[in-house]
Amino acid sequence: MHRGSIKEVLHLVRDYRTLLSGYFVILVMATVSEGFGLGMLLPIMETATGKGGDSFFTRKVQGLFELAGLEFSLPSLAAVLGLALVAKYGLVMCAMHLARVVSARATRDLREQAFRNIMDLPLSYFYRTKPGDLVATQFNSAQNAGAIFEYGANLLNGVFFCLLYLAINSLISFWLTLIVVAVAGASYFFILPRFRVGFRKGDEEKAVMDDVNSYLYDTLSGIKTVKAFDNSVSHINKYQTRIDRYRDLSIEIVDNRIVVFFFNEPVLVLLAIGLLVAAVRFFGIPFSSVLVFLVVLIQILPKVKLINNNWLAVQEFLPHLARIGALIDRRDKQYLPEGSVRVESMEGDIRFESVSFRYPQREEFALSDVSVVIEKGSTVAVVGPSGGGKTTFVDLLLRLHDPTEGTIRVDGVALPDIRSGDWRRLIGVVEQDPYLFNDTVSTNIRYGKPDVTGEEMEQAAKLAYAHDFIEKLPEGYESFVGNRGLKLSGGQKQRIALARALIREPELLVLDEATSALDSEFERLIQTAIHQLRGRMTIVVVAHRLSTVRDADKILVIEGGRIVESGKHETLMDKKGRYRDLVNLQAGSDQ
Ligand code: ADP
Ligand code: MG
Repeated sequence: MHRGSIKEVLHLVRDYRTLLSGYFVILVMATVSEGFGLGMLLPIMETATGKGGDSFFTRKVQGLFELAGLEFSLPSLAAVLGLALVAKYGLVMCAMHLARVVSARATRDLREQAFRNIMDLPLSYFYRTKPGDLVATQFNSAQNAGAIFEYGANLLNGVFFCLLYLAINSLISFWLTLIVVAVAGASYFFILPRFRVGFRKGDEEKAVMDDVNSYLYDTLSGIKTVKAFDNSVSHINKYQTRIDRYRDLSIEIVDNRIVVFFFNEPVLVLLAIGLLVAAVRFFGIPFSSVLVFLVVLIQILPKVKLINNNWLAVQEFLPHLARIGALIDRRDKQYLPEGSVRVESMEGDIRFESVSFRYPQREEFALSDVSVVIEKGSTVAVVGPSGGGKTTFVDLLLRLHDPTEGTIRVDGVALPDIRSGDWRRLIGVVEQDPYLFNDTVSTNIRYGKPDVTGEEMEQAAKLAYAHDFIEKLPEGYESFVGNRGLKLSGGQKQRIALARALIREPELLVLDEATSALDSEFERLIQTAIHQLRGRMTIVVVAHRLSTVRDADKILVIEGGRIVESGKHETLMDKKGRYRDLVNLQAGSDQ
């Protein structure tokens, strides 16, 4: 576990300084009230039985009553006791409320911080993190990490009251109190290792829980595939092994808690019985003093429990705090640096200068030494076999990653120097596997530019040849697309995605195999659409079907991460190289 990551979260403490000081003050007041109330016990005993009367407490209380002009009698003693207790309960209630406020706020603020960081993280981070884990961090760990504040507060409560009780008892009998402290302290030799076990089990529980969550998330995301392959049984079996482990672990955790909860109690009760005898027999302490001593000692029990339980809970939940801290911690993550150059439009070319790119944790380069000029207003097609590096090329253009080597320049400015928000505002993109959010068609199209009118939206949809089929949906533009757009065909999804890209009136339109899921008729329509858009914007189109790109100003053939050929259709055909092979291959398979 990262100590550093815990420190990240504890920065929050600074924000809650006022609340925590308030808690502290209220707790001190509650402890004082309790002390005041308990201080009345011995005088009440002694007044009621008519015995003693020279104990420390009776003398002090007598002095205080005289000062306040109160009559030293049973009713007034009882009244002070009652008032002090009522005040204590009121204050403790306030303190508990405050503790909850702090912990609820901490949970909320941690969730926000974590989510902001998730939004900021580079794409590469998500290639190696399971989404289920991030959901668990948001959900469980934020909850549990926030709760630590409350456990800490309760712990403090227990410590304050314990100290008070020990102080009162030491005024009655110093030696008896010392014995209590020594015996109770010795019992911690057995309990302390349990706290470490709690920490370890808490860490394990988190891991198992993540595993359960991730598995559920993954299964549900692929539910259609699960059913199509009739593999429900194997999923149930795999799920069972995971929840079996969770069941066993939860029993182990509670067993550990049980030991911690109950170990102190019998020790202290046996001690109390022993002390009762010893006090009267060997120390010759008056019976009323012994009685009060025991009453106070019995009060210690629940407080010791409070301390143990909450310290154990802190231990069990610390791994969650560490995890959310690790997510919030910005230091060890490779954020893309934010540039400062503002751009409002694209005036010149986009240049790739000897660009190479390697995915983290991959040996080979996905792109090697790519140099190309994309002229303003031109249409550039990228073709080549699957896995060649076309999507990687597009992602670098969008600055979803920075090149490992080489530079991409826009109007002569290196891409990392430009404000990424400015740059992406100029681009409309249709990804290879476009994602539609679980909302209406209209919301999904407006995602490209939220403040457009309904008419502008329909215009974009018409341009993307999406309007006609959207009109036919049960509720037109207000129809829900379903989770991940499951209710739409691949081609329909891509046309909505195209409308979403076009609505931005981009200066650079990027289509990554946008026609691959379309049938031939609509492919031709899209081709027409691209044709209409030509010259109005720069277009980079990754094409699956080569017929789509015949009239592009430049065709790049990417294979094995390298540009193996580039030029116009006719030139490349005449060259009788890779491009012509690909065209012939496709012509053959299309027949
Ligand atoms: P294309 O779009 O031409 O089919 P890609 O650009 O998607 O090709 O992939 C190029 C190479 O990079 C492939 O070898 C692929 O396995 C690898 N690759 C793609 N995405 C990732 C990723 N997120 N992490 C690691 N390797 C990747
Ligand atoms: Mg691709």
